[in-house]
Amino acid sequence: MAERIETDVVVVGAGLAGLSAAQALVAAGRDVVVVEARDRVGGRVVNRELDHGVVVEMGGQWIGPTQNRIARLAADLGVETFPTFNDGDNILRFGETQGRYKGAIPRINPVVLADIGRAQARFDKLARRVPLEAPWSAAQAEQWDSQTFETWIRRNCRTSKGKDLLRLYSAAVFAAEPADYSLLHALFYTNSGGGVDRLTGTADGAQQDRFVGGSQRIPLLMADELGARVRLAQPVRRITDRGAGVTVLTDQLELEARAVVVAIPPTLAGRLVYEPALPPWRDQLTQAVPAGAVIKCNVVYETPFWREDGLTGQATGNEGPVKITFDNSPPSGVRGVMLAFLEGAHARRAARMTPAERREAVLGSLVRYFGPQAAKPLDFQELDWSAEEWTRGCYGAHLPTGVWTQYGPALREPVGCIHWAGTETATVWNGYMDGALQSGDRAAAEVLQCLSIRPEES
Ligand SMILES: Cc1cc2nc3c(=O)[nH]c(=O)nc-3n(C[C@H](O)[C@H](O)[C@H](O)COP(=O)(O)OP(=O)(O)OC[C@H]3O[C@@H](n4cnc5c(N)ncnc54)[C@H](O)[C@@H]3O)c2cc1C
Repeated sequence: MAERIETDVVVVGAGLAGLSAAQALVAAGRDVVVVEARDRVGGRVVNRELDHGVVVEMGGQWIGPTQNRIARLAADLGVETFPTFNDGDNILRFGETQGRYKGAIPRINPVVLADIGRAQARFDKLARRVPLEAPWSAAQAEQWDSQTFETWIRRNCRTSKGKDLLRLYSAAVFAAEPADYSLLHALFYTNSGGGVDRLTGTADGAQQDRFVGGSQRIPLLMADELGARVRLAQPVRRITDRGAGVTVLTDQLELEARAVVVAIPPTLAGRLVYEPALPPWRDQLTQAVPAGAVIKCNVVYETPFWREDGLTGQATGNEGPVKITFDNSPPSGVRGVMLAFLEGAHARRAARMTPAERREAVLGSLVRYFGPQAAKPLDFQELDWSAEEWTRGCYGAHLPTGVWTQYGPALREPVGCIHWAGTETATVWNGYMDGALQSGDRAAAEVLQCLSIRPEES
């Protein structure tokens, strides 16, 4: 027999979006129940505690300039930040050729540098023309949404290395191949995060700072404040819209509410059962918004040995399988942690390997970037986000050709008493923690307005 609960609003998902929606609703005096599928809160933000008190994040971790919501929230909760290690040279590798450079501009052939510089300037300029609230209303939306980012790269970069650098941008920021999504999506997402340099940068960029004790402290502290309103290990299966209210079913709970905020990625939202069935535009949207693919690896060494070679630990290479690395060592310096990303096609391929094969492939890349010392870590932690039942891919979703222009409005448009949140619905920092918070606040405001004009069910 299911436990029956009556409340004002049910929030589905205790990621940052769901928790921020719940906090805003509680602050407005509403009764809220948050139902979370996992036995923990945080969703795509999760800490892992290792030996010697080392905490690594297996999901979202960095914060940078203009991410004001997450910065304010962390400060309010007393979660401090510290700068990502960024002293020394970065590595750039094309095939078998590896070079070092300082700062943001790689030391490469001036012809390639001019090529990529021109293409990036053009791309950033187009991105600024995409209205963040309604990408489908951009003057050239149809044209941009009927080609992939890969098509644009081929037409706008002359050199093969220039093309590869933009493909690296795609892997690092979208966790997908540029053929997977439309140019309009590439432009929207880039504008939403403030441009290519802001998205890819460490100093003054999205990778600038880290959270002391790990980013999951933020959702954990939010959930503490919500207390018994958060119900863990309760995957939502079905939502019934009764017109004047909703019934939300998990395996053990039957929740009656006046509205529901579904704060899960659109693909997962499409896997719930709705009664009555969702309208076609919303259901087709959920069929057309795939998540990127990432396997995040934190590789632990006795010391951050690369620092002794004058390296930041930030390496980028066009062949992979690891295309991006960062120094992810704890501030205490008790261990060296190298963060290695498998993204897009490489993550999809690596997902089919055995853990031993994957470890060998990752360490092989690290040895090529940082030398033989990288071959013998003390510990190897990995998480394949596509294999996570309650996430199914990350960092966020990407929209293939035709989706923004045909289904874009359905991303946020409520269906009856059902409201949509989650970083995929954000206008700023879409795909990021900051965007998740924005989406939660927006959905809560929508619900409050809706409740204020709709009489209580008798
Ligand atoms: C490897 C990785 C690295 C990242 N790096 C960064 C970074 O450095 N900086 C940054 O800002 N962002 C980063 N991100 C992105 C960031 O983590 C996300 O944008 C953000 O956490 C999304 O929050 P959300 O609440 O929208 O969704 P989620 O965190 O996905 O929350 C959704 C919640 O709903 C739950 N759920 C799913 N289905 C159901 C169901 N049927 N019933 C009940 N509950 C359900 C899930 O378990 C989850 O807890 C990264 C993400 C990953 C995975």
